[in-house]
Amino acid sequence: MASNRTFTMIKPTAFKKNYTGAILKMIIEEGFQIRAMKLTRLTNEQAGAFYAVHKGKPFYESLVEFMSSGPIVAIILEKENAVEAFRNFIGATNPEQAADGTIRKLYGTSLQQNAVHGSDSDENAEIESGFFFSKMERY
Ligand code: ADP
Ligand code: MG
Repeated sequence: MASNRTFTMIKPTAFKKNYTGAILKMIIEEGFQIRAMKLTRLTNEQAGAFYAVHKGKPFYESLVEFMSSGPIVAIILEKENAVEAFRNFIGATNPEQAADGTIRKLYGTSLQQNAVHGSDSDENAEIESGFFFSKMERY
């Protein structure tokens, strides 16, 4: 059964460029409910663990470096069919290929620095949420 929840992060470049408010506005107006939210920063080790599925790929080390380079906003969102709906909403991984009007198209600055993360399955949404939030911190 679908959990109707997904996990996202506003990545370091988007946070640094002060896109947080605009991105949150888009997310809320799309009908996603915020169930947990935190401004925090990943250590190199935590970023490595978060993206462990990509270990060995050519972009992994650089991605881990980037994701631990500054603050991120970690967020749990709820909406019907949240995982798929959110991934469609943010657009393709590469901002240049993302559809017009998507968050990655509007606020992504490169393939690596593509503004936001979006979980790719209910299972991963739960695992990724657990990196940042206890059950008590989820509403
Ligand atoms: P998505 O975030 O769309 O699920 P992936 O899981 O494939 O994409 O990759 C995780 C993240 O790694 C991407 O969001 C992006 O920041 C980065 N990334 C993916 N592919 C590349 C690449 N070829 N070069 C540089 N960075 C990449
Ligand atoms: Mg992914």
